Amino acid sequence: MLVGGGPGDPDLLTLRAWRALAEADVVVADRLGPRSVLDDLGPDVEVIDVGKTPGHHPVPQHEINRLLVEHARRGRRVVRLKGGDPFVLGRGGEEVLACREAGIPVEVVPGVTSALAAPAAAGVPVTHRGVVAAVMVVNGHDPVPASALAGLRDEELTLVVLMGVAGLDDLCARAADAGVDPAMPLAIVERATTATQRVTRAPLRDAARAAREADVRAPAVVVVGRVAAPDLLAAHHAPAEPRVSEAHGTLLPPRSDSSAAAPSVSEARGTPLPPRSDSSVGAGHGRLVGTAG
Ligand code: SAH
Repeated sequence: MLVGGGPGDPDLLTLRAWRALAEADVVVADRLGPRSVLDDLGPDVEVIDVGKTPGHHPVPQHEINRLLVEHARRGRRVVRLKGGDPFVLGRGGEEVLACREAGIPVEVVPGVTSALAAPAAAGVPVTHRGVVAAVMVVNGHDPVPASALAGLRDEELTLVVLMGVAGLDDLCARAADAGVDPAMPLAIVERATTATQRVTRAPLRDAARAAREADVRAPAVVVVGRVAAPDLLAAHHAPAEPRVSEAHGTLLPPRSDSSAAAPSVSEARGTPLPPRSDSSVGAGHGRLVGTAG
């Protein structure tokens, strides 16, 4: 089962992801996503850490694919736990293809992608009525597409850049060359939804310098567009409405300790989760990357 784990906070795992983890024999985990749940897995669960750090790939993709196939062939319930959503710049498609080529059925469990969750957690709505109605997600390793720059220049879209810390200077320079307003707001959200989340805001013209001065590091999501203006939500809310807290992106009071609030996976082996209503859907559930043959 190819499971999206969300951006980091275990509270942002879906119920289906919790169930998959609770029923897994083997969990093949990434560097990003809700790493803390790995500590709460039962003693019988084998955790294989294939985490990549930027510029350093300890386990190559073909080896990950091979591991998934090998464990599934042994009849084990394999969870491939990925950060965010498996199909958003996560190479999830390649893993599905590798398994299917080996005759192993794969269930895909969507996840909360950092591309949308990081801006939201920082109080940045990627679309906002009357401001912008389109959003484009790009890989910061590649040169930013000309269509994205044109959309930004025309203020028609919000640009969300993943893996964009190293290429931030280049992004800002290209945007300036393309005629994007140098005052265009930009926000960088590091370690979104974790206890150390940090947001750095600057207009496009100052963003590269601001990031250097703040020592911005991966993982971070870069958001460029009118929606990233610090006062956007304040300006568009009537004074009588509750203010959305800038720091927490929530109308609820901040939690004092996010880890304490998260149920452990071992608890999930009991029954804190609601039962599935459709047992036919449930029949294959927990087969993870299924069993071969
Ligand atoms: N499939 C993942 C993205 C994988 S690419 C998803 O849907 O979220 C890895 C990039 O995701 C990182 O370089 C960073 O840009 C972003 N990212 C993942 N988790 C993040 C987090 N908690 N905070 C900020 N950025 C994050």
